[in-house]
Amino acid sequence: MRSKDAFDRVMKTVTKIREQGEKPEEDIYSMDKFICDLCQGDFKKKEITQCGFCGRWICKENCWDKDLRACESCSGLIKLAKSEESKEGQENEEDR
Ligand SMILES: [Zn+2]
Ligand SMILES: [Zn+2]
Repeated sequence: MRSKDAFDRVMKTVTKIREQGEKPEEDIYSMDKFICDLCQGDFKKKEITQCGFCGRWICKENCWDKDLRACESCSGLIKLAKSEESKEGQENEEDR
């Protein structure tokens, strides 16, 4: 099992937006709603979830990747880490 390496790599790459357990941003206009950190939409508490990687609060509707259990922003990084893992050994850093 090497997928833990991929997750470690993602954890290092991801910029922490919020700490775990930090509260989501409240919508000041409607007391019982919270702002999605990605699409900026307002959602009820149970419609949002906190990403375990970056700590963003995101809506399950638009910005949550169920398969990877990460927000849309981090899921891209996870996919990248996984593909890098599969071609390990080849140093290919073209965009630098
Ligand atoms: Zn969203
Ligand atoms: Zn995230």
